Amino acid sequence: MNDFKDPEESNTHLPDQKELEKEIGDYLTRKYGQKVKIISAGLLPHPDTDGNKETTKKATDLPFDFNLKPEELVAFLDEYIIRQRKAKDVLATKICTHFNKIRFSAKREHPFRTPVGSIKNNILLIGPTGVGKTYMVKLIADKIGVPFVKGDATKFSETGYVGGDVDDLVRDLVRQADDDIGKAQFGIVYVDEIDKIARASNRQGLDVSRSGVQRALLKLMEETEVDMKVPHDMISQIEAMEQFRASGKREKKTINTKNILFIMSGAFDGLDEIIHNRLHQKTIGFEGEFASSKKSKDILKKVASEDLISFGFESEFIGRLPITSVLESLSKDDLVAIMKNPNCAIINSKKQDFVVYGIKLIFEESVYTRIAELAVAENTGARGLVSVVESILLPFEKALPSTDIQYFVVDESVVADPEGQLQKIVDHQGERLRHQKKYSRLFEKEKKRVVRFLKDKKSDFFKRFNIPFSAERRALIAQHIIEENSEPDQVCEYFVSLINHVRGWQEILSKHCQLHIVFDDRAVDYMLDQKPCQPATIDSLCESILSSIEYGAKLLVQKKHAQTIVVSEDGVRDPQKFINELVETSFKL
Ligand code: ADP
Repeated sequence: MNDFKDPEESNTHLPDQKELEKEIGDYLTRKYGQKVKIISAGLLPHPDTDGNKETTKKATDLPFDFNLKPEELVAFLDEYIIRQRKAKDVLATKICTHFNKIRFSAKREHPFRTPVGSIKNNILLIGPTGVGKTYMVKLIADKIGVPFVKGDATKFSETGYVGGDVDDLVRDLVRQADDDIGKAQFGIVYVDEIDKIARASNRQGLDVSRSGVQRALLKLMEETEVDMKVPHDMISQIEAMEQFRASGKREKKTINTKNILFIMSGAFDGLDEIIHNRLHQKTIGFEGEFASSKKSKDILKKVASEDLISFGFESEFIGRLPITSVLESLSKDDLVAIMKNPNCAIINSKKQDFVVYGIKLIFEESVYTRIAELAVAENTGARGLVSVVESILLPFEKALPSTDIQYFVVDESVVADPEGQLQKIVDHQGERLRHQKKYSRLFEKEKKRVVRFLKDKKSDFFKRFNIPFSAERRALIAQHIIEENSEPDQVCEYFVSLINHVRGWQEILSKHCQLHIVFDDRAVDYMLDQKPCQPATIDSLCESILSSIEYGAKLLVQKKHAQTIVVSEDGVRDPQKFINELVETSFKL
């Protein structure tokens, strides 16, 4: 039989690339069996996983892909950050507006210059340590796709000879952006412990350098060109000489700070007193009310620029930080909620530390309360969780990798007596079995928690891609999140891309069989549930479906004028049986 007909003669349409590759592939398979196969990227569908991306990039040509509204960014933060309602609103809104402003002016045909005196949305965060200040900004930078650096204000000196130079922050941003100045100029610089560079009226010597650092930071926050070459850094001098030798040009590389967003933070001990005194002076006679408000942790929320100036900042410096947000301390219950969140980096990275040795780790929920109690005593917010978890699990992390233990449950007995429990699990097979059984039980419980999380947060996400988000699908994704120890967001995005991949295959199958082929939801879920969970697995399933049903489907089109075939889960499991039954039934009718 001749497979290749002259299209002119046969009066059929000219095959496109995919069809051609398929036909050649079929021919080779028939001639040489499975030994010869053409592999072509063009044969596979290329699912467009994010409909928004394309348009954003083209419209702006900026080095970041940003098309978010403030509320979307707040919703994103809600998935990671416990409490801090106000700070989440302020940060998300102002950062969103900052980048949308840049995008807006880049999009205009004739961008006008920024009005004289216009002020960037630099932000001051006030709050104790370990409550999520850095975490929030990092998450946002990551989401937007801009470089982020964090520095500590106490490390800077005015001249740059002691400690570091504030300009290093901007140079670090370039390093973070893989030396791409174009990218770095839209980065975020975060400076912690900013309260430590406030003038203290009783310490003259320090005061000079503190005011100097404030002025140096002020210059960065306004707009300046930072030389990428560090005057006292030998390496950058040598690099410059090398470049001169190679190109004969003395290129001056600088970065402009106009679009860099600056976020400063600090605990500001004693600021509450200053605020109280100001409020108290203004309302002499209402002593009782303000005496109690001084004690209240809410007093910081009444902070005004004049309080920060009284605290020891230059008024120009404060003027360049027009937005202030106060973060709350975290209670024991908040710490528990942080650990229960499927996005908790502290718990997830601990699980990862064990997974690398082939050990599956899980926490019993009641343990979170005990860990939180111990962490509260450290008075370092959620940072305390890291040290508590480390101190409990370190002996296990040291000893278990040398055993063949695969399952380890952190339950109350482990927290109460880590050393004793370690001996038990290492020495007794029965104890290992207990851990394995308990692991399975806790896994199911954790899965329910993740399913709830997905239901609350993710339904909109799937709606956006017009993808059904059934209970079965949520369970499947939750399972994957726990098994792979990955962030829900990432797993959801991955599943969306896989589902689009299946949709791509629907088109390929439809074209080949000359009728509309769709997989029902269970069929799709079955494909997603196969291991390894990746596009190649879907490819081999769909390739086998194609070869099994192609003939039957064409028969149905020709003889029964069939227009659509809905492939069920059974159809994916055993496509040959599925198509045979379908043909049989329709010919009986
Ligand atoms: P700081 O407020 O001192 O900048 P971080 O933001 O660096 O503290 O917090 C340290 C870690 O604690 C974070 O990486 C995060 O894992 C956790 N964390 C802190 N606050 C929160 C919060 N409100 N919600 C969730 N996790 C938090």
